[in-house]
Amino acid sequence: MPTPDDRARELRRLLEHANHRYYMLDAPEISDREYDLMMRELRDIEEKYPEVRTADSPTQRVGAPVQSALTKVVHMVPMLSLGNAFDDDELRDWEVRAVRVAGEEVRAAGYTAELKIDGNAVNLTYERGLLVRGATRGDGLEGEDVTVNLRTIHDIPLRLNTPNPPEFIEVRGECYMTFDGFEKLNDRRRQDGEKVFANPRNSAAGSLRTLDPSITARRRLRFFGYAVEPAPGVRLPFKTQWALLDTLEGWGFPVEPHRRRCETLDQVVAFVQEVEHSLRAKLAFGIDGVVVKVDARNVQDELGDVGREPRWAIARKFAPDIEVTRLLDIKVNVGRTGALNPYAALEPVEIGGVIVKLATLHNEALVRQKDLRVGDWVQVKRAGEVIPQVIGPIPERRDGTEREWHMPDRCPACDTPIERDADQAAVYCPNVACPGRQLEGLVHFASGGAMDIRGLSYARIRQFIDAGLVHDFGDIFALTIEQVVELDRFAQKSAENLIAAITAAKQQPLMRLLNGLGILHVGEMAAQLLARHFRTLDAIAQSSEEQITSVRGVGEIIGRSVATYFANDTTKHLVEKLRAHGVNFLEPAGKHAGDGTGSLAGKTVVITGTLPTVSRKAATEMVQNAGGHVTSAVSKSTSFVVAGSDAGSKLDRARELKVEVIDEDELLRRAGAEPKNQ
Ligand code: NAD
Repeated sequence: MPTPDDRARELRRLLEHANHRYYMLDAPEISDREYDLMMRELRDIEEKYPEVRTADSPTQRVGAPVQSALTKVVHMVPMLSLGNAFDDDELRDWEVRAVRVAGEEVRAAGYTAELKIDGNAVNLTYERGLLVRGATRGDGLEGEDVTVNLRTIHDIPLRLNTPNPPEFIEVRGECYMTFDGFEKLNDRRRQDGEKVFANPRNSAAGSLRTLDPSITARRRLRFFGYAVEPAPGVRLPFKTQWALLDTLEGWGFPVEPHRRRCETLDQVVAFVQEVEHSLRAKLAFGIDGVVVKVDARNVQDELGDVGREPRWAIARKFAPDIEVTRLLDIKVNVGRTGALNPYAALEPVEIGGVIVKLATLHNEALVRQKDLRVGDWVQVKRAGEVIPQVIGPIPERRDGTEREWHMPDRCPACDTPIERDADQAAVYCPNVACPGRQLEGLVHFASGGAMDIRGLSYARIRQFIDAGLVHDFGDIFALTIEQVVELDRFAQKSAENLIAAITAAKQQPLMRLLNGLGILHVGEMAAQLLARHFRTLDAIAQSSEEQITSVRGVGEIIGRSVATYFANDTTKHLVEKLRAHGVNFLEPAGKHAGDGTGSLAGKTVVITGTLPTVSRKAATEMVQNAGGHVTSAVSKSTSFVVAGSDAGSKLDRARELKVEVIDEDELLRRAGAEPKNQ
């Protein structure tokens, strides 16, 4: 057993190292949770055995001392950190402690609860309303002068928007980067062979502390204000944190809009729940908790600070959505269209209360782009219900035993040699009858966007496959009530209902059947275009690659894929089987855009900026073909905005009105066309 002194020394060493990697190099090696737990353990030891505490212990300091080439700035009032509460009980303990110091006035004051933006604190000095200096937090006493960099950030006003600005004031807030900005930055860095950043917070820190302001300008940093410090002895007119935030907004600072004024701690607890389990996944930027502040500023003064933390505020931290674990293997999954996609097999790790063992890696190119190697330590993110993602490796933790990964030459499910698209981006198994495709293919065939067979769920299809009743789409139509009722969890009524739904599905229009077949690259959109043009399945099956490609909106990749699909003997057999069961092969005339059908029916869409691969005209047609309307002005009734590069005021307006903004890939997906590189 190590003595408390040994353990404290070890923790100090580990925390110092983590601080250096995090604050100086912007490249952490451990997760925030691991860091927080070590910090807490050290704090507990130091509390229990005060003799082991050292003056320079990480528990006594904020951040890390400034060591960069930037000029140092001494903060007029120190910039503190925040205490942490990891659950609601700890939050309640904090209230009890505060009441012990300042009495019931704490509860009477109520609380302001703000999102805890996962960025970097900065201090902006305004003299007579003009921005004269901007600095990082540094070690809380002394930060780095990054005025020229901060001036490039659009969110930060160079002049306060008020006719009577204070003589002197420091405005504090968080500089952060959106997820989108972070991904784009890392993509560019990868392409340029530069080291990528671990997360948006570290990339914002790196972008802020650069010596070249044009770099900061390009990185599109954002800012939210949340605190002010007046000149010593000056009293500010506002009496509460809530009013302070409103004032900051009036002066021209963005203030995070989801803040809430809570009368009681119960209301705070409810707000934390709401943010953690619902709002968090919808935000364009990262948060790691909710900051709870005693609202009345006179009560805040009474509570004061303890060490590196104010007593009047606390960070109620969320269960982390990013963890660090080992990439044990990279495996390959066969999708319903035969596309082979790699996924990560991970050393099980708990993220937000769920054990994560698998994460998506999307495609081969991404594995290469991120330079992921089997055996790597990786950062894994799990947000809400979204499938866990591997953010990237931690190269510093490699010991040389890691190995590069290559896509196998043969399909892991049926051993057929794999094929590649002309541009080499997509890899797929050409075997139409590949068992790897079977289950997912059948699920898609029966789904709402395709044949829409009510009651034919994932579990049911599994059951039919296991019972040897269904091998391909045709077999679904051969099922009888007698066969089905024999199976577990079926009664006479449910069997009858299912067979009735299957029989009804035989009349679905051709575009649904085509979509259901799961032809590589043929999504809802392409299926619609082909069905409307050719009108019958036989006409499509008999057309050449050139004839298919000549259809407006259908490209070469789809043309080749469709022609190859129908030339295959297994397909020919399937088509005859479907015909024998009386499945409809015709597309009824008279369906057109805006008739209430299609994946974008009823949606109003604005397109702005230059899209990477699709022209504005083609994008407009795509929306219309999917049943949507395209308008030119963004308003509250806009369903979403599609933004490309150099998007200007429409994008700003969309953000202002909180209208959803998507990119080209997402538009293609929503309109039922496959994004180009998948
Ligand atoms: P913190 O990030 O936990 O909390 C304090 C900070 O919250 C403030 O300085 C401010 O920047 C920010 N903040 C965001 N929104 C705010 C709001 N509305 N009001 C007030 N403040 C707001 O503390 P810290 O001292 O900045 O950093 C310590 C944390 O950094 C650790 O808890 C850990 O999560 C992380 N860290 C990780 C590593 C690692 O290796 N992974 C190393 C060092 C630190």
